[in-house]
Amino acid sequence: MNPKIASYLRDQAPATPCLVLDVDRVAENYGRLKAALPLARVYYAVKANPAAPILDRLTVLGSSFDAASWEEIQACLEAGARPADISFGNTVKKESAIKAAFAAGVTMFAFDSEPELRKLARSAPGARVYCRILVENKGAEWPLSRKFGCEPAMARDLMVKAAEWGLDPYGISFHVGSQQTQTGAYEAAIARVAMIFTDLKDAGINLRMVNLGGGYPVRYRAEVPEIDAFGDAIMGAMTEHFGNALPEMVIEPGRFMVGDAGVVSSEVVLVSRKSEDDPVRWVYLDIGRFGGLAETEGESIRYAFQTPHDGSEEGPVSIAGPTCDSTDTLYEKSNYRLPMALDAGDQVQLLSTGAYVTTYASQAFNGFRPLAEHYI
Ligand SMILES: *Cc1c(COP(=O)(O)O)cnc(C)c1O
Repeated sequence: MNPKIASYLRDQAPATPCLVLDVDRVAENYGRLKAALPLARVYYAVKANPAAPILDRLTVLGSSFDAASWEEIQACLEAGARPADISFGNTVKKESAIKAAFAAGVTMFAFDSEPELRKLARSAPGARVYCRILVENKGAEWPLSRKFGCEPAMARDLMVKAAEWGLDPYGISFHVGSQQTQTGAYEAAIARVAMIFTDLKDAGINLRMVNLGGGYPVRYRAEVPEIDAFGDAIMGAMTEHFGNALPEMVIEPGRFMVGDAGVVSSEVVLVSRKSEDDPVRWVYLDIGRFGGLAETEGESIRYAFQTPHDGSEEGPVSIAGPTCDSTDTLYEKSNYRLPMALDAGDQVQLLSTGAYVTTYASQAFNGFRPLAEHYI
């Protein structure tokens, strides 16, 4: 575990469940991304963790921001971000939110449909717009399905319309799915984008920007490729398809920026069995699906655990949260093993839980309060 977080947990003994996040580690991750992709502008995906200490630090470092709502835009502005450095990246926006963002000086907007483009033409006249396309999400442990993006042929037609309607047809975006473990996913998506650039050039429209989205993975239980491998694959594909006429590049990392900077500390509430001779123990924690661990849905994201008994004999476990809802079971099928000595009252840590946890917590289901947060 991160030594700064370990000593905070030891010295401060904060009440569980809580997230402890090392903001210096976020700054390091920003540096690692810049080193891996020096030509790309970094737009931090605010939804991964919108805490003010993170937004403040990233602003100082010169990061830009990908916001999904007017509320997230306000959080970025409060952190000192310039409106010109904020992208309104949600393709599904209330027109009142578009108006508010435009009035505040935000000039970069995503869309993936004609009705949304119409809203932008009305309420953000002249703004830079980029169209999100559908791409393969294979290799992603938290895929984004077909909810966002349109087919390339539609993107092409919409960009022509954008120009006709007085908007600035700026570029194309995609998202290869979150916790993407295969560098090839970006290469395939870049090839799709390049074809749209070519088609539109023939129509007299010169796009200027490729938005490569997020997806860059964090190490949980299994190894993942290093960020440099993603940087190399992306630059290789960009050079292959665009030669020396490289467009502006944007990346929108969420999970990678904050994931490994945070640790959730939790207490074991109960260790039990369903029958005397059942080898599987059920371990109930004071945090579960409703306390912030929403990404355990379908056992998609499989967190690594640390316990006070690590190194001693282990046995199979199912792991569940504290509420009276059966969907509040974290892992039954993912072959988790924990020490036989684990007992009620022990503290366990869930590693690399800085992303997609605090804001995924319910308000007070079964009376449990949202996750406490400590930024150090
Ligand atoms: C969620 C999201 C991201 C961040 O994705 P990660 O997989 O966390 O890096 C980036 N861009 C958009 C548009 C998103 O919705």
